Amino acid sequence: MYHSTRGESCAVTAAQAIVAGIAPDGGLYAPIEIPVIDLRFISQLAEKSYQDRAKDILALFMPEFTELELRKCILNAYNLDKFSNPAIAPLRLIEDGPALLELWHGPTAAFKDMALQLLPQLLSESLVKTNTETQIAILVATSGDTGKAALEGFRDVDRTEIIVFYPIDGVSEVQRLQMVTQQGRNVAVAAVKGNFDDAQTGVKRIFVDKEFNRELLSHGICLSSANSINWGRLLPQVVYYFSAYADMVSAGRICAGEAINFSVPTGNFGNILAGYYAKRMGLPIGRLICASNQNNVLTEFINTGIYDRNRNFHQTISPSMDILVSSNLERLLFHLTGEDSSRVFAWQHELTVQGSYCIDMKTHQAVADIFWADWSDDDATKATIAEVYNQYKYLLDPHTAVAWRAYQSYLQATQDHTPCVIVSTASPFKFCESVLSALCTESFSSIGQSIGLLDDLSKITGLPVPGALASLAGRPQLHRQVCDKNTMREFVAKHLLG
Ligand SMILES: *Cc1c(COP(=O)(O)O)cnc(C)c1O
Repeated sequence: MYHSTRGESCAVTAAQAIVAGIAPDGGLYAPIEIPVIDLRFISQLAEKSYQDRAKDILALFMPEFTELELRKCILNAYNLDKFSNPAIAPLRLIEDGPALLELWHGPTAAFKDMALQLLPQLLSESLVKTNTETQIAILVATSGDTGKAALEGFRDVDRTEIIVFYPIDGVSEVQRLQMVTQQGRNVAVAAVKGNFDDAQTGVKRIFVDKEFNRELLSHGICLSSANSINWGRLLPQVVYYFSAYADMVSAGRICAGEAINFSVPTGNFGNILAGYYAKRMGLPIGRLICASNQNNVLTEFINTGIYDRNRNFHQTISPSMDILVSSNLERLLFHLTGEDSSRVFAWQHELTVQGSYCIDMKTHQAVADIFWADWSDDDATKATIAEVYNQYKYLLDPHTAVAWRAYQSYLQATQDHTPCVIVSTASPFKFCESVLSALCTESFSSIGQSIGLLDDLSKITGLPVPGALASLAGRPQLHRQVCDKNTMREFVAKHLLG
């Protein structure tokens, strides 16, 4: 069962938590009991496929799902039509260096696929389980990565519709092409005249428009969102921490039972929180290294116990981590305070009212025992991309480079040589412009045309362009609609009600 981090909603099943997304009191759903596994469970994973590893772990958290139901969801999400690597989340070992957990072999070439492929399947099954009669229409405002991953995850999934809005000048050419070429019978995409905030404000306005929601409901449609506060987006991420550990054992880098560390490029705290759950379940994890870019709210929080969002927002070359309010931190604090929802409620209230809060010393000590944090600016990130490429011939994307560097500072600061896995969250080709400028100082013939830059990067490094990105240029652009931030509702109505 699951309860709300703010303590004022009833306990619910996993299926109910996934259908609801957010708890009625505004809190996030968290498991009442975190299942604990033993070394035998971990050793058995070593021989299993990623899909079977996922089934074993999901089953612990979703007892109301049968093995058959879980298997169906998992096979629909993680298969070779969608993922280009049979291992799904392969571990890359670097000689005399750390290991990398590559989470970007899915249809959109970034780690959001790991969760957004499975969430729609779990949601669709949960609708049946909870006897929900309505269809679910997912609305997304995206600054780039999430929108495409949600489109790919929800396309053609029963009883769901997916509508994505992106800011007309706010996404890269690769990202725009990824969205406007989207196929599927339940998808809609529109550009919004304005920036990301305009698109996001427009979506929020539709969510709270009572009259419009009533009208949709009378047609059997309920609105929902696919962002990372949904438990169904967090749970799939727990799996790859186990999977990486099992692969470290298989590769002979560790013996079963030995501890490893993870370094995680962090934004909304969803990815690294899944690592925390894995540790609580008994996976031998030493430290979780939380790596940030110049938006370093979390570095300060982990080092001082003070969360302060009152600062300038920086646009960086690791845009998926450009975030000042990491919503999933609320779940961590809930668990670390022994599920003290009134304290969590008070901190979240302070965050809303004054933009900051300070946790007590005991809770801060608990944070500091598990997490270690550092951040890099763009120059350091680019230097890391170049260094690692020159030394190991391994090409990092800017997000992963931030995690690599945080791991290097961790080594220097602590001399802790526990084997480390760096969580790699995007294909370098997805951010080819920044990666190219990190590798070379001279400029390129095709600067400004991202599609051409894909080939440039491939030529320089000898690495193939990921299939999902390589085919973009030749695909028909199906979604050419543009709306104004005030006509987004009409766009939704037209798509859903005809
Ligand atoms: C979303 C994202 C992150 C940040 O993950 P969180 O779960 O938000 O902390 C890091 N890297 C990439 C490439 C992402 O898309």
